[in-house]
Amino acid sequence: MANPKRRHSPSRRDKRRAHWRRVEKANVMTCPQCKEPKLPHQVCPNCGYYNGLEVIKIKVKKEKGKEKETEGKSKEKEK
Ligand SMILES: [Zn+2]
Repeated sequence: MANPKRRHSPSRRDKRRAHWRRVEKANVMTCPQCKEPKLPHQVCPNCGYYNGLEVIKIKVKKEKGKEKETEGKSKEKEK
């Protein structure tokens, strides 16, 4: 039967147990089209662009109140 040749040291055991809860951060980049945060190698969910081309068309909800809010936010980020 295959068995481990040596017992792991308490240090090695505790180092292993110290990282079980760790969650890796998502790799986020900014969209070159709309400057919104997006995941790399994926179509931007905000503007639908990928590699400088509009791949999918994003449905824009025609609610005047919400449109004004989004306009205000984009202006704030430009500054
Ligand atoms: Zn975008």
